[in-house]
Amino acid sequence: MARNIGATNTNMFKDWLSKQKQTIPEIPDVEKVTDRVVRILGGNAGEMQLQGTNTYLIGTGARRILLDSGEGMASWAENITAYLRDHQIELVYVLLSHWHGDHTGGVPDLLEYDPSLASRIYKHTPDAGQRPIRDGQTFTVEGATVRALFTPGHSIDHMCFVLEEENALFTGDNVLGHGFSVEEDLGEYYRSLCKMRDAGCALGYPAHGTVIANLPAKMDMYIRRKEHRERSVVDTLRRRSDTGLPGHTVKEVVRALHGDINSEVAAQGIEPNIAQVLKKLAEDRLVGFTNVKGSRRWFLKDCGSALKSTLIRAVA
Ligand SMILES: [Zn+2]
Repeated sequence: MARNIGATNTNMFKDWLSKQKQTIPEIPDVEKVTDRVVRILGGNAGEMQLQGTNTYLIGTGARRILLDSGEGMASWAENITAYLRDHQIELVYVLLSHWHGDHTGGVPDLLEYDPSLASRIYKHTPDAGQRPIRDGQTFTVEGATVRALFTPGHSIDHMCFVLEEENALFTGDNVLGHGFSVEEDLGEYYRSLCKMRDAGCALGYPAHGTVIANLPAKMDMYIRRKEHRERSVVDTLRRRSDTGLPGHTVKEVVRALHGDINSEVAAQGIEPNIAQVLKKLAEDRLVGFTNVKGSRRWFLKDCGSALKSTLIRAVA
């Protein structure tokens, strides 16, 4: 799944996408990106997938690793099986970055091509019949050493993979070639971004979009964006609410940050995002909330003893 975090509802997202289509480069269906990485495009270009899901064939010999399987489109199945046949390649590991359908949907096509692959499908939190991937686990074939990096947040099972020989990182859906990704859990996602940055890789192979030539710069941009959002929310909570009541509701924080915007846009796109930021700040023990007249009102935990005394529960 790939979606720009700034796109706040379907129409806004379509506008954003139409602009993006004018700027994002085309990706060939099959491309030898380096001597040890071949990218096969999922054939599922769309609003959420940009040019489509990238899948990667990794290694230099007759036995290789496949990362992700696309969405189950016929074009992907034809392209991958033709490549394997033409180059007499056997897959020894099929790694799935996470459970989302545009990464796992091609597994049945793989099994139809080679039923013996059923014992070589790997995923963190594996489905029935699959094998687990643990943080730090290494998968080795000729020309490629691939090390798993557990990086949840976009999904609970998300894995990135370091390609040691190229000091490159397969970033999955956590960091995209264009635009920004989305997260299910901001706190986990933020920690995963920092873990990815600390891996120190120079190059990024995203699950959507073209190769990230300067991964450290991209990681900084993603992390700064999240930190800026947090600071904006903290600054808003520091100010007194117009209502005269303690703290702020999520709606009030959104209004303070964005003004009087369309309520549907706010409810669908922005309020869930701000709620995620507040949840992370609560996990970091920076904010708490109290319930007033049936509404949850959030405040900084160091913002004064009067408010502290009204604290019903600080979320930890
Ligand atoms: Zn995804």
